[in-house]
Amino acid sequence: MKALCWEGVNRLAVERVPDPRIQNAHDVIVKVRYTTSCGSDLHLLDGYIPAMEAGDVIGHEFMGEVVEVGPEVTKHSVGDRVVVVSFIGCGSCWYCDNDLWSLCDNTNTNPGITQGLWGQDPGGIFGYSHAMGGFMGSHAEYVRVPFADHGAFTVPEEVDDLTALFASDGLPTGWMGAHLGGVGPGDTVAVWGAGGVGQMAAHAAMLLGAEQVVVIDRLPERLGMVQQHVGAETIDYTATDVGAELRERTGGRGPDVCIEAVGQESATNGPEYLYDKVKQQLRLENDRPIAMREAVMACRKGGSVFALGVFAGLVDKFPLGALMNKGLTLRGAQQHGQRYLPMLLDRLARGEISTSHLATHVMALDEGPRGYDMFKNKEDGCVRAVFQP
Ligand SMILES: [Zn+2]
Ligand SMILES: [Zn+2]
Repeated sequence: MKALCWEGVNRLAVERVPDPRIQNAHDVIVKVRYTTSCGSDLHLLDGYIPAMEAGDVIGHEFMGEVVEVGPEVTKHSVGDRVVVVSFIGCGSCWYCDNDLWSLCDNTNTNPGITQGLWGQDPGGIFGYSHAMGGFMGSHAEYVRVPFADHGAFTVPEEVDDLTALFASDGLPTGWMGAHLGGVGPGDTVAVWGAGGVGQMAAHAAMLLGAEQVVVIDRLPERLGMVQQHVGAETIDYTATDVGAELRERTGGRGPDVCIEAVGQESATNGPEYLYDKVKQQLRLENDRPIAMREAVMACRKGGSVFALGVFAGLVDKFPLGALMNKGLTLRGAQQHGQRYLPMLLDRLARGEISTSHLATHVMALDEGPRGYDMFKNKEDGCVRAVFQP
């Protein structure tokens, strides 16, 4: 089959790779209809994620049709239209039993690498390096889906393919950030980053009852989407002082919940950006935490900050003093999509959430390298480059 492969730092190529086969009785094989690039894939491209090997198939967000079913699979049959959660959960370990699916103890087949980096290993993920299980990714014609009864969800008839695609990662990740960030009725919420995840986090906050939601970015087309499809307020961080603006809009108190949906390649205009960028390139720090610092500083006393953007390692000049003295709660997580998907697919079927507008550029898989260039450089208003294998 054809697949989009990582060939080295900033080098992608469409290649022929072996078709996936059922390896375990709980697997299904999915023929991919749509698969999307994700901001976290840029960290693979840029070489910030360890344990990539030339020829690895990337991609972790996808939907398609079940074409082969392992003998122990009970929920799916050939022909089912499914969306698959990016993180792979076994459904039977302590973490999966406690709805902490991305922390599954059984699906990362190479736990040593992340145990060394983080103390313990999270679960496996499609197409995201050998440190995260070495699973073949979704930018391919077919994908093997382990533990399919838990990770693959039948798409309701009312939900079209492109809408369903974002239930793989962007939507559940955004929802989880708002939910575990503690958003409740009447809250004021600030979200850093108007990419797919940030937009979904903002929409989730509104559906969870937030009274005021403000999204911070610099790209006018993304801020326009936030206004049009999410209905949240926006701040262009190149035009104003974000902390002062947030205080102004929240009666001087600051947001109750701050969600960071940018991650380790965060940008800003100031000298702080250059400082972090240089240190990152010299590998003195892995991650640029500019938006995270701003979130901690802007959050109201006693509020909560949620790390939803992807960070891989160490950060520099983290305002721990502000965290402690302001009585903040700091949380983070990779998505526990299996927990949220039934509810989210119902909401998509009822038309409560719009996702397909994120698919600004849909193209053939053969155009994958060009699609990633556009996505990385945010050319032509690209929010997500989506591939049709
Ligand atoms: Zn993703
Ligand atoms: Zn598990």
